[in-house]
Amino acid sequence: MQPPLVKVGLLPCPAYEKEHLYQTLKKIIELLGGIDKFIKPEQKVFVKVNHLPPPSPAERAIVTHPVFIEQVVTILLEAGAKVRVGDDINLSQGDGFAVSGLRQVCQRLGVKLVNLREEGFRKVRISNGKVLTQTYLAKAIYEAEVIVNLPNFKTHSLTCFTGAVKNMYGCLPEGLRSRYHREFLGERFHSLLVDLYSALKPQLHIMDAVVGMEGEGPANGRPRNIGLIMASADGVALDRVALSLAGIDINEALYLKEAEERGVGKYIPDDQDRTNPKRFPAGIQVVGEKLSSVKIPDFVPSSSFHYINKWVPDFLFQLISGLFNSRPRVNPSKCCLCLACQRVCPTGSILVGEKSVSIKKRTCISCMCCHEACRYNAIQVKRGIITRSLIAILKKIRGFISSLIMSIL
Ligand code: SF4
Ligand code: SF4
Repeated sequence: MQPPLVKVGLLPCPAYEKEHLYQTLKKIIELLGGIDKFIKPEQKVFVKVNHLPPPSPAERAIVTHPVFIEQVVTILLEAGAKVRVGDDINLSQGDGFAVSGLRQVCQRLGVKLVNLREEGFRKVRISNGKVLTQTYLAKAIYEAEVIVNLPNFKTHSLTCFTGAVKNMYGCLPEGLRSRYHREFLGERFHSLLVDLYSALKPQLHIMDAVVGMEGEGPANGRPRNIGLIMASADGVALDRVALSLAGIDINEALYLKEAEERGVGKYIPDDQDRTNPKRFPAGIQVVGEKLSSVKIPDFVPSSSFHYINKWVPDFLFQLISGLFNSRPRVNPSKCCLCLACQRVCPTGSILVGEKSVSIKKRTCISCMCCHEACRYNAIQVKRGIITRSLIAILKKIRGFISSLIMSIL
């Protein structure tokens, strides 16, 4: 017997106009079987958005658009869910949630906006993991009854595309995110994405493809009007359809292929839909708009950091990227031994001394939960040597330019 088809919904939505967004979102969820299929009244639902730092206004298309999030949350609240929204962000660079407008949206709706590091991370076993057998995942998400994933449609310089599957990477602590980027190179990083996705498996994915990003995503590309909303219960199938729309070579997104092989999600090899379009619905049923009528012409893929891995030996890549890393550092003169940092540390890396705490470097995963928890500014973020040097150089250049301008004036 044929396995059941995986539905991927596609509907046009030209702009972030509230009423039109709301109606289109309602319709796309209906196409997937209706909201009751995903949410029961009173269920604890976590809405995982893509809120990539540093702070940026919504128009830059780096983050899931707050108006899009607002309309999804409205629908979930109407279904009787207990909704919380969030992502893991570093507030030392400014309140990114306020800059994008997400904080204001959550206040208006009366739902809690969670910075994942505030509630901490828990050690989780990954039973079918290929490269990870255990890791730390955000408690707020892991412990939710239903996860609704709201990625945006963007290129990614390392994984080619950042959609539904890659958005789960944000459930890791900040330090692990950078460490994994350093330690899991090439195909192993794609396997890691599949491991994480399989550990969380959100029940519903709705992709903001009203305005996406092409070129050097996920943060330095160009916003691209796509005018679509996409949704599925299967994040792998959703990403697969997104790539097909953008005309990106599917072989670049190894995680999709691996996810299918491991039974984590649906993937159809590219030649099947190219040579015989009727085969595409054989595994994935596109509902709503026809795939052929919403293809994105001349979509610009990332010119690709991921090729660097092919030229640079792994050890050199790891060494260089490690020099960018930030770490927490205790300022003993400000520490009053309140131990808030120790309570949130997921790895037990906070050691209590007579006058202040200290950090065990060997076990610290640089999640920065201690930095967020400390109300006495006693834990600072120490930037990596390369980042520090670059900032120093930029400051000197800025000083030189200002004095040059002053002398001319
Ligand atoms: S939270 Fe801050 S003040 Fe409290 S023990 Fe930790 S470092 Fe010291
Ligand atoms: S010491 Fe701080 S940064 Fe390191 S693991 Fe513990 S909470 Fe995270």
